[in-house]
Amino acid sequence: MTEYPTFVTHLECSYTGKHYPADTLQGLSEAGKPLLVRYDLDALASGVSKIHLIDREPELWRYREFLPVRRSENVVRLGESMTPLLPARKLEEDYGCTRILIKDEGRLPTGSFKARGLALAVAMARELGVRRMAIPTNGNAGAALAAYCAAADIETWVFCPADTPRVNIEETAFFGAHTYLANGYINDCGKVVGAGREEMGWFDTSTLKEPYRIEGKKTMGLELAEQLDWQLPDVILYPTGGGTGLIGMWKAFAELEAIGWIGSRRPRMVAVQAAGCAPMVRAFESGSRHAEPWEDAHTIAAGIRVPAAVGDFLILDAVRESGGFAVAVEDTDILAAQRECARREGILLCPEGAATLAALKRELASGRIRRDERVALFNCATGLKYPLPAEYGQIDLKQPIDYAALKI
Ligand SMILES: *Cc1c(COP(=O)(O)O)cnc(C)c1O
Repeated sequence: MTEYPTFVTHLECSYTGKHYPADTLQGLSEAGKPLLVRYDLDALASGVSKIHLIDREPELWRYREFLPVRRSENVVRLGESMTPLLPARKLEEDYGCTRILIKDEGRLPTGSFKARGLALAVAMARELGVRRMAIPTNGNAGAALAAYCAAADIETWVFCPADTPRVNIEETAFFGAHTYLANGYINDCGKVVGAGREEMGWFDTSTLKEPYRIEGKKTMGLELAEQLDWQLPDVILYPTGGGTGLIGMWKAFAELEAIGWIGSRRPRMVAVQAAGCAPMVRAFESGSRHAEPWEDAHTIAAGIRVPAAVGDFLILDAVRESGGFAVAVEDTDILAAQRECARREGILLCPEGAATLAALKRELASGRIRRDERVALFNCATGLKYPLPAEYGQIDLKQPIDYAALKI
């Protein structure tokens, strides 16, 4: 049995600061707010140095000292490799920008960065003896949970809106998860999961309703920092649904500063949402710390169709503290940005990732982002998981080919 060096001290309510013990199964705090994992950062600082990282595998578990798993046998590995940070050179030229980097998370297991969070949640569930997990999802989280649970021999229940991207639904069921479509939004599915806890005996793995998915998503911030030689970008544009990634990166930067690996300079965090579902943008603009639920949410960017987020104040706090902002983009602009990136860069963004590019274009024009700022965009899933337009012709091999007709 291998012990991982772990520096976890306790869990902390993100709203009231109340402490909770770390090595027991926990959901939300008594205040109904997310619990955050806290570490002995002094011990962490002396337990690992940047030099140690050099010899480690290029994968998520290279940051194990920053993570809560105590025993390595509880880790399920599906290939959580570090993801490329691609410079979008032609877009930089087109827009006159100094630096546009795309963090391509589509390379992770099940094709999305949900693998980071669920790898941690499942490892911790194993550590704490969970046998059955349930999740509400817009697609990618359900698929990732189903994959890790298949490997970990944990039973899985997945509830998603009926219009979740088809590939995700089929993939989730194919991994053996009990998969159900519902005539409502992710929040409605969340209520089904929450209300079924007693009767079904499952662990509620909803975004931010357990403490560990965010720790997995935190590795995006650690990885970004390491890839940039511990010099963070000036602006991060993040497609924001439940906000785990944005909150997780913000937490990563605080921990890195506390152990002296980075200074106090932070990127401006920009929460990007779709115009058809923009509760954080509305709350940001009205100066509120909490977001009202969004009615009639609609967007092709399924991963950010989240009408209400339990971590709303954490998203809004991070955005404000960083000097960033929240912005909404139209679906038509998302599709145009997706096409532009595919044709100029050869990178197939998912619609959520394309939303960050659409937001960048918009804010370069408005001046809220300057051309000399170094920008990182997050592409959170492979574009292959989403339907693409059928823009191709057909030829009949039983007839002579009329090449002239192909050249239009
Ligand atoms: C889940 C998801 C998001 C939103 O991530 P959060 O951290 O929950 O805000 C964005 N894009 C894709 C592709 C997703 O699957």
